[in-house]
Amino acid sequence: MISEVLNNAINEQIKYEFYSAHLYLAMAAYCESQDLPGFANFFKVQYQEENSHAMKFFDYINQRNGRVKLFSLDEPKNEYASVLETFMDGYAHEQVVTKRIYNLSDLAMDERDHATMSFLKWFIDEQVEEESNFDSIIKKLTRIKDDTSALYNLDAELAARVYVPPTTAQA
Ligand code: MG
Repeated sequence: MISEVLNNAINEQIKYEFYSAHLYLAMAAYCESQDLPGFANFFKVQYQEENSHAMKFFDYINQRNGRVKLFSLDEPKNEYASVLETFMDGYAHEQVVTKRIYNLSDLAMDERDHATMSFLKWFIDEQVEEESNFDSIIKKLTRIKDDTSALYNLDAELAARVYVPPTTAQA
């Protein structure tokens, strides 16, 4: 059984993962409004990933005989000045998520809850990928600046991103 402290902290993280999904869907909506369907696709896939992260925590709490609680979500930012701004915000957001995962991991370590430490390792690795994805698109957009044809090329590239659901219980 998971401790009440960790259970509560993971419930807060479930909320944050669903909020992340909400935030990325708002970014997808902004990209759609700018007629950039590839960028919108990137954020729709991101939305699906974040929902799957929330559900991984959901399933874990239940596996450990804890109790999942859901909370209401904050309103995400809906207006952006540019696609670059969505990715800069996304990158900053992912850095906060990384800190939150590290805090959870510290808590699990303090409690010597090895099962939770092992479970969180997947998220620690995932965050490296999340930050790197955002960082690399920011670099591309910064180089693109006002080059419309380069922007459309990147839009076409991002249209190809597909959501890959985790294949195993731990993946
Ligand atoms: Mg996440």
